[in-house]
Amino acid sequence: MGKRKRMNGRYRRFSFLSDIEGMKNAIGEMRGKFFPNQPALNQEAKIMAAGPVPDEEWFMQTIKNKIATHPDNGMEYPFFDEPIFDEPLVGFVAGDDPIFNQLKEIIGPHHFTPWEIMAWQAKNNGVTPPKPDEISVVSFVMPLTRNTKRDNAAAGEWPSERWAQTRLLGEILSQTIVREIVTDLMERGILCVSPDVTPMFNKKRYPEVGWASPWSHRHVAYAAGLGTFGMQDFLITEKGCAHRLGSFVVNLKLSPIRKRPDDIHAYCLHYQGQKCLKCAKRCPVNAITAENAHDKEACYQKVASSLKYCNKHYHIFIYGCGLCATGVPCESGIPSPLKRSEQK
Ligand code: SF4
Ligand code: SF4
Repeated sequence: MGKRKRMNGRYRRFSFLSDIEGMKNAIGEMRGKFFPNQPALNQEAKIMAAGPVPDEEWFMQTIKNKIATHPDNGMEYPFFDEPIFDEPLVGFVAGDDPIFNQLKEIIGPHHFTPWEIMAWQAKNNGVTPPKPDEISVVSFVMPLTRNTKRDNAAAGEWPSERWAQTRLLGEILSQTIVREIVTDLMERGILCVSPDVTPMFNKKRYPEVGWASPWSHRHVAYAAGLGTFGMQDFLITEKGCAHRLGSFVVNLKLSPIRKRPDDIHAYCLHYQGQKCLKCAKRCPVNAITAENAHDKEACYQKVASSLKYCNKHYHIFIYGCGLCATGVPCESGIPSPLKRSEQK
């Protein structure tokens, strides 16, 4: 992504034509285009000479510091410079964890294993790919701010302005932060790659699972023990389901720090036999039902149709919704009746 010129004192004009970064983001998400070239591996680097080898603590502190201090963690007009995200959660999963083969069955054979994406990066740099047990995945959750959640909880048909800005600016920020980390590690001689900014990243409609991408931050976050799935398919974490997610693959052995529940729905009231379905009541197109859970196609149609609304009212090129992730018991944390089962 290029550097975005943020709306400061007034709204952008004709965002359908002028919000170039928004358009690039949308095409990138669907077609894997317009991403900057991957940083090159510094094959001369001696890892130890560049300081201690980054460990779990280094990744946690680096990601937290970046979210806290990054100049791009700021909204546009009329909320100029309000933070987009609160303090993140970070988790790790081993590159050879059997869950990645299971994801090929659950999501589809197109979903990359960490080794497959790392092999692509190794080939780009003319080096031998590391073994699967020599790589790890770093996953992080960026919780939305109280203001954004409040505004979206008050919306009933279309995403709030803060939500729409978060959807676009938060994605650009996430890609920027990961790119900075990947560049730093590659400069130290450590192979690293962010799958969602490679040319292989493109969303498609698959017969079994509907719209899906070849690298699901959500499933990776579950694998790293950061949360479990709700009825609306959002990941319910200890900071709730109103967030954005990021992840990347690195040629280092990092130990998981969170225990992954076996039950992929451990933090959803409905799936745990308790009365809820508040997310279903929040959906303006009835895409969530007790019988069929989340209808991804109906959801997709609604989300895609918001592009016009967001351009007309918020003057940014983005689509979104997230009504079912706000104003619900799992919005900002694991619903209290289920907290006992929270395991770290
Ligand atoms: S609102 Fe209730 S039913 Fe829906 S995902 Fe959250 S906990 Fe589950
Ligand atoms: S994100 Fe999808 S499922 Fe959720 S409220 Fe919007 S249309 Fe409904």
